[in-house]
Amino acid sequence: MNDDKDLFFSRNEIQKMSKKFPTPFHIYDEKGIRQNARRLFRAFDWVKGFKNYFAVKACPNPYIMKLLKEEGCGADCSSLPELMLSERIGLPGSEIMFTSNDTPAAEFKKAFDLGAIINLDDITMIPFLEENAGIPELISFRYNPGPLRRTADVNVIGNPEESKYGLTREQLFQAYKTMKTKGSKRFGLHTMIVSNELNRNALLETANMLFDLISDLSAKLKIHFEFVNLGGGIGIPYRPEQKAVDLEALGRSIRSAYTEKIENRGLAPLKIFMENGRVMTGPFGYLVTKAIHEKHIYKEYIGVDACMANLMRPGMYKAYHHITVLGKEKEKKDHKYDIVGSLCENNDKFAIDRMLPKIEMGDFLAIHNAGAHGHAMGFNYNGKLRSAELLKRGDGTIEMIRRAETPQDYFTTLDFKGSAFKDMSS
Ligand SMILES: *Cc1c(COP(=O)(O)O)cnc(C)c1O
Repeated sequence: MNDDKDLFFSRNEIQKMSKKFPTPFHIYDEKGIRQNARRLFRAFDWVKGFKNYFAVKACPNPYIMKLLKEEGCGADCSSLPELMLSERIGLPGSEIMFTSNDTPAAEFKKAFDLGAIINLDDITMIPFLEENAGIPELISFRYNPGPLRRTADVNVIGNPEESKYGLTREQLFQAYKTMKTKGSKRFGLHTMIVSNELNRNALLETANMLFDLISDLSAKLKIHFEFVNLGGGIGIPYRPEQKAVDLEALGRSIRSAYTEKIENRGLAPLKIFMENGRVMTGPFGYLVTKAIHEKHIYKEYIGVDACMANLMRPGMYKAYHHITVLGKEKEKKDHKYDIVGSLCENNDKFAIDRMLPKIEMGDFLAIHNAGAHGHAMGFNYNGKLRSAELLKRGDGTIEMIRRAETPQDYFTTLDFKGSAFKDMSS
C-alpha cells in the first residue's frame, strides 16, 4: 500500500472533498478494510471459532469498529472508554477481550459486568479481580516468556525480558491452579510479544511456543484450554521496499503446527484468537493535508496544515510514512524536503530529507498507512485540535465519521467560573 498508485482517491476528488471537509483529515477505505478482514478470516478458516479481536486502540471509531464487527471481528480493549465503545456498537461480552495492565478496579468491574473475556496481566490481579469484580467462569492469562524467547535469528521488537507485561512461566502454573480452585471452569492463554512484525517465522514461533505451553499446562493441571490468543502485532509495509505478511501462508504454517502440537496431542478443539489492530486498518487510512508554507533556510521545508497531533508516529518513533503529492504521482522525485507541522517541537516532521516532486503551495499530500495508531494517538498539546475522520463507503460516497475538534471542545474541561475569576464575574 506504499506505492503512489495504490490510493483510493485522486487529487480531483480530494480537491472537491476539501470544500466540504477542510484539510487536514483522515480518510479510510471501507472496501479495503472489509476485504482484508475477510482474507484474515479465510486464512484461519480451518480452525473452528477463529476470531480477531480488533485492538480498539488502533482506530477507536465506532463506524470502523462496526464494519469490522460485520466482518466477524470482536474488540480487544484495555480501558473503560474502549469497553464502553465496544458495548455501544453492540458487541456481546464474549466478543470483547479485556487485555489490560496496571488495571484500575472500576475497569475490571465493567469488563466483568459486560461478560468480557478477562485476560489477566499478573498473578496479583487474581485477588484484585476477586475483590473488585468477582471470579469469572472463563479466565485467561498473558504470558511473558522473558529470556526464554531471546532467540538470535528472530527480530522481536522489544525484548520480552524488559517488558512490563504478563506472567512468567512458573507463575502461570500457579495462576491457573488458583483460578481452578476459586471456581473458574474455562481457560485461555494469551501473549503479545511482537509489534509491527513482518517476519512470518516470528509469528509462527509465537504460536509454537504457546501450543507447547498449553500442552504442558494441560498435562500438569488437568485443565482443558478453550482458546489460545496469539496477540496482535502483524506488521504492515510502511516502506515501499517492504512486503506485507502473506496471511494465507501464515495460516497454513500455523495450521501444521496446530496439527502437530494440538490435534496430535489430543488437545483439540482449541480456538485460535488474535487481536490485530495495525494490519486491520493501517494500510486503509491516509492523513490528507495541504502545503501551506515553504521555507528556504539551511534546508528546504514544506509546512503543511496537519501536525504531529494528527499523526504522532514519525515524531515519536522516527517511523517512516510514505507520502504522495497528489496529482504528481508520475513526476520526478527530484526535490529534497523536510515536511513539517506547526507544533513548537522540532520533531514535528512527517518526513526528513524526503525526495518528492516539486511541491507548490496548495498541493495536497497524502500520508500513507495512517489508518492505525494515527488519529488514535492524537493529542491537544500546544492547543492543537484533532482532525475529522472520513470514510469512503463501498459505493464511493464519503461520510464524515467524526467531526474535527473545535476550540470549544478544547475549552470544555476548563473552568472560567471558579475562584480565579471571581473578579471578572460582575
Ligand atoms: C496494541 C496491542 C495489540 C494490537 O497490536 P497491533 O500491533 O496493532 O496489531 C494487541 N494486543 C495488545 C494487548 C496490545 O496492547
